[in-house]
Amino acid sequence: MEYEGTVYRPPSEARSLIIQVTVGCAHNRCTFCNMYRTKKFRVRTKEEIMKDLDECRDYYGPYVSRVFFADGDALVVKTELLLELLAYVHKNFPYVERITSYGTAKDVLAKSEEDLKALAAAGLEMVYIGAESGDDRVLEHIHKDVTAAQIAAAGQKLKRCGIKTSVTLISGLGGRKGIREHAIKSAELINQMNPEYASFLTLRLYEGTQMNEEVKRGEMELITPDEIVEEMELFLTHIDSPGTIFRTNHASNYVVLAGNFNEDIPKMLAQLEDAKKRQRYRLEEWRRHI
Ligand code: SF4
Repeated sequence: MEYEGTVYRPPSEARSLIIQVTVGCAHNRCTFCNMYRTKKFRVRTKEEIMKDLDECRDYYGPYVSRVFFADGDALVVKTELLLELLAYVHKNFPYVERITSYGTAKDVLAKSEEDLKALAAAGLEMVYIGAESGDDRVLEHIHKDVTAAQIAAAGQKLKRCGIKTSVTLISGLGGRKGIREHAIKSAELINQMNPEYASFLTLRLYEGTQMNEEVKRGEMELITPDEIVEEMELFLTHIDSPGTIFRTNHASNYVVLAGNFNEDIPKMLAQLEDAKKRQRYRLEEWRRHI
């Protein structure tokens, strides 16, 4: 089996079998993202994907417990094909415990509740949504092409249909001018979605992206580690999302946090305060190798 181009997956899928259902990202316009810039989006054929699954069954045997459907938003694929693929995963790997994929809010909203319930029944356990921010001004600025209300509606719809969600936000995405709104509105978005998981990455610029050029021209100011911590403190003090498991354990994060909302918020705020006081941030060196 050969992957087409670089394949990305969430940190928590590090031990999963990654199956490319699509190549690239159907949206591919976010101004900070360079992940799929070199890939022309396409849905792979059923035969290509099933051949990969057969090869993996031959190589790994039947004891694969986790499968992740890549690339950028595999949920964009027609429900009929996803259902066939989920059934084929179960046929090849009868002990599989969890099948997940990336999906955009638009992908979720484009599917009927019946389709999402059928996907849940067929074993799609969780969808990773890159919300990035709950602030509409930030979402417009980064060309996300959705509003916070649409993202919230997508999360609520997945929940109604029995599919878990893992929501990713990005620290510093509003720049210096947008710290407060980005933090508070992102917390409000999480409160409305009440996802099973939420996490933050920290903004990192990549050559060739629009946002990198904006920063070079001085149109957007990156925020310092101290300001990232202040943004996170604002976010946490506005959270009310009981049961959500929260992590900032990506290599890009300056401070690693792990806890459950709402009970662990005071503990995480104390960790942030301590990190700021002692200037104990993960080294820049880390970030250069991401
Ligand atoms: S951030 Fe996500 S939706 Fe946006 S271009 Fe990158 S992969 Fe696609």
